[in-house]
Amino acid sequence: MGNAVQQFFAVKTKIAAAEREAGREAGAVTLVAVSKTFDAADISPVIEAGQRVFGENRVQEAQGKWPALKQAFPDIELHLIGPLQSNKAKEAVALFDVIETVDREKIAAELAKEIARQGRAPELYVQVNTGSEPQKAGIEPRDAVAFVARCRDIHGLVIEGLMCIPPADENPGPHFALLEKLGKEAGVATLSMGMSGDYETAIAFGATSVRVGSAIFGSR
Ligand SMILES: *Cc1c(COP(=O)(O)O)cnc(C)c1O
Repeated sequence: MGNAVQQFFAVKTKIAAAEREAGREAGAVTLVAVSKTFDAADISPVIEAGQRVFGENRVQEAQGKWPALKQAFPDIELHLIGPLQSNKAKEAVALFDVIETVDREKIAAELAKEIARQGRAPELYVQVNTGSEPQKAGIEPRDAVAFVARCRDIHGLVIEGLMCIPPADENPGPHFALLEKLGKEAGVATLSMGMSGDYETAIAFGATSVRVGSAIFGSR
């Protein structure tokens, strides 16, 4: 059994323990295995081991490896977790099953146009910049609820969730708590929060999906 497969099973076990500890239902948390920078040969054993939900942060990189894997395993669910440029909306709608990084009006408009044109509607989450970091993508927390409403009312989009990436140098708990509160206010059920270093904490704060890369595939 390869290293990634062993680590995948270890992460699954820790997720199950964190669910139990938080009083959450078994299976309440979806593991998004983040495979960015790894190629099909690295990813395939983890698919064979049963994982079906994967995350990539670049449209172009994903286009290089996922069409063939999705053809071989049609039940794969591919998430875009990196920033989306509006000139890539067409490719993103065609390839991804979930786009986690809707964060501005222009992207919402482009996605609405492409969804109508292609007749294919990925699930959409709004990314919230919970730490208000200038270099980080995401809508400001104070604008998040109104932005979700505009996505729905003006652009006709179905927003299923919120996503955040807490500042690297801060305790993530308050950021997870903020996302959970905003999710309630915005009326969305899905919370994508927690990465290799903090996914168990995120589960305690109500994460419904965790995005785990290096703890499965190794360092990048
Ligand atoms: C890379 C990445 C992850 C996974 O990070 P790890 O620390 O390797 O688990 C999660 N979310 C986003 C948005 C990422 O870009």
